[in-house]
Amino acid sequence: MGIYDDLGVRTIINAKGPSTRVSGGFLTPEVSRAMAEAATYCVDMAELQAGASRIIADVTGAEAGIVTSGAAAGLLLGTAACIAGLDPGRMARLPDTTGMKNEVVMVRSQRNFYDHAVRATGVRIVEVGLPDRVAGAGVRDAEGWEIADAINPSTAAVVYVASGSARPALDEVVRVAHGRNVPVLVDAAAQLPPAANLKRFIAAGADLVAYSGGKAIGGPQGSGILCGRRDLIMSAILQNLDLDIEWNQWAPPPSLIDKDVLVGIPPHGIGRTCKVGKETIVGLLVALKRFVAESDEARRAIYKARVERLAAQLGGTRGAIRDGLVPKLVIEVADGVAACLRLQNGVPSVHVDPSRAAEGTLVINPVCLRDDELDALAKRLREVLG
Ligand SMILES: *Cc1c(COP(=O)(O)O)cnc(C)c1O
Repeated sequence: MGIYDDLGVRTIINAKGPSTRVSGGFLTPEVSRAMAEAATYCVDMAELQAGASRIIADVTGAEAGIVTSGAAAGLLLGTAACIAGLDPGRMARLPDTTGMKNEVVMVRSQRNFYDHAVRATGVRIVEVGLPDRVAGAGVRDAEGWEIADAINPSTAAVVYVASGSARPALDEVVRVAHGRNVPVLVDAAAQLPPAANLKRFIAAGADLVAYSGGKAIGGPQGSGILCGRRDLIMSAILQNLDLDIEWNQWAPPPSLIDKDVLVGIPPHGIGRTCKVGKETIVGLLVALKRFVAESDEARRAIYKARVERLAAQLGGTRGAIRDGLVPKLVIEVADGVAACLRLQNGVPSVHVDPSRAAEGTLVINPVCLRDDELDALAKRLREVLG
């Protein structure tokens, strides 16, 4: 609290989960310590990312990987890699895509706010499929043949936003795209847990996969992972690293950047804007190791204990536990939007998951709740719910 008091900024109780707007989650002492230690030394950033690549490759089954400043940064870097390949001239010209592959194909029902990161590279998004199923009018969404139909010589990639309801299945998208020599970039930002999803999309044939580091992994708020094919990861890191160095002096780690295949060294790329600091890289890697060492079941037990304690304090009638990998407490109220606002504007300020507030449902996500906040949260909920 001290540092936020000094700044005159209130802390909040985050019952919404690891969302960027409410500052992600909190770090374990192990991750904070690693970041503090990392901050007291200097390293070569390319070497640090090569070290990260070994760990990420091991955890994801991908050929290579880098730490990014978030999943959205991973989408930008991944798209830039699919467009520019290993051509420094193309890297230098982005976001001007004249003469390059300048389209990506996306299923219409998968479009979302993060595709600005894709468009920032200069590509145009070509939408396919009618989300009839999503509209409630029918049963269908986009189909493989429609993706095939949209692919043409200007197609740089198919961008696929993974979720339980995403159609067509990823295997089908990969089959269609690879049959036409087009890579598939998967947004898997929020697909953890289960931890098995760290390997699942690469195993299904995705060429690049972006994860958020600040969500379930428990890394720094501004961190993420981009993993995938070695040549594409090399392109991504070349467009992300600071390259203020002479060709003759430049000795990047060959495991991440194969200098021999380059005709020259590009200037700072389009991804230099989403620079990632050494503390962030180290913090993400320590959090990632911790995430894979802990079982989904152990995590679930911790979350479940939190919502059960809350439910007990509210009295049995005030909410139902919705079980799952992340058990949640679901509370029905007469006016969900008003309840959210009262919680938000009270002391302490409480943020719950508002996505179903308009239907009169408050959802309490336990992932970012500190155990020492549960009593205060229960008290505020009792006051607001009456
Ligand atoms: C959270 C999220 C992102 C952005 O992740 P950051 O790490 O905050 O950049 C992108 N796509 C989806 C689907 C997300 O849920």
